[in-house]
Amino acid sequence: MIPLALGIFGLIVGSFLNVLIIRHGVRSIGGRSACMACGRQLLWHDMIPVVSWITLAGRCRHCRTSISPQYPLVEAATGILFAMIGAAPFPTDIAYKLLFCTIAALLIAITVYDLRHTIIPDLWAYTFAGLALFSALAFPIQTTNYWPTVLLAGPIAALPLFAFWFFSRGRWMGLGDAKLALGIGWLLGPIYGIFAVFLAFIIGAVVSVCVLLPLPHIVRLFKKAGIARSGSSISYTMKSEIPFGPFLIVSCFIVWFSILYNVNIFGLFGVVLP
Ligand SMILES: [Zn+2]
Repeated sequence: MIPLALGIFGLIVGSFLNVLIIRHGVRSIGGRSACMACGRQLLWHDMIPVVSWITLAGRCRHCRTSISPQYPLVEAATGILFAMIGAAPFPTDIAYKLLFCTIAALLIAITVYDLRHTIIPDLWAYTFAGLALFSALAFPIQTTNYWPTVLLAGPIAALPLFAFWFFSRGRWMGLGDAKLALGIGWLLGPIYGIFAVFLAFIIGAVVSVCVLLPLPHIVRLFKKAGIARSGSSISYTMKSEIPFGPFLIVSCFIVWFSILYNVNIFGLFGVVLP
C-alpha cells in the first residue's frame, strides 16, 4: 500500500518539480499553468502526470506545439523513486520515508536544472546539504553514529571536488558540484560518500565516451524523425561543458538505494571491506 501511495504522490510532486525547474529565477511559481507557446491555460485533464503527455502525443491541444519530454520524464522518475523508497525494507518509519522522498525530489530538480543550465542553484544545493545533515544526525543510514565521523562525512566527500574546482580555477569542475557532494557525504556517510563521488567519475567517463561523443549523430537522427526540434532540450548536452552534477546524483541514488535495499555495492565492484 505504502509504495503505491508514495508512487502516486511522487507523480504529483514530479509535476510540481517541472514548474519549479522551468520557473526558477524566471517568474513566481504561483498562477495557473499555460502553454509556453500559445499561452492558453491548461485544462485539468491536460495536467495529469505522464498520462496527459501521452494522450496528447506530446503536443499542445490548441497550437500543436510539441511539449518537452522533460515533463513526463521528471514525473515518472519522481513516481518511481518515491515508490522505491516506499518499498525499501529500510527505513520502516513513514516519517523517514517522507524525509527521504523530499531529498529525492530535490535531487531530481537539481539534476534537471543542471542539465538545462549547467549550474546548480545555491539554495537547492544548501537545502539538500541541510536535509542530508539532519537525516545523518536524526536517522543515520550508516553503521557509525560516532558524531565527529557523521559531521565530517560531508566535507570529506566534498574535498576532492573542491580541490578540482580550486586548482582548475573552475574549468574542470564547478563549485556547485562540491556543494552537492557535501550533501552526498552527509546522506551516505564518509565511506559510501567518497565511493559515490568515485563512482560518479566512472559513470561520467563511460557516458561521455558511449553517448556524448556520438550524440550529434543521434540528434541528427532524431531531427530527421521529427522528434527533436532544433533548440529543443536535447541540444543542451552538446555544449562543450558537460555538467557533472547529474552524474554525482545518479551515483548517489545507486549507492543510497543499495544501502536501503541491503545490496552490497562494494561486493558488486569486487571491493572487500575489512
Ligand atoms: Zn499551445
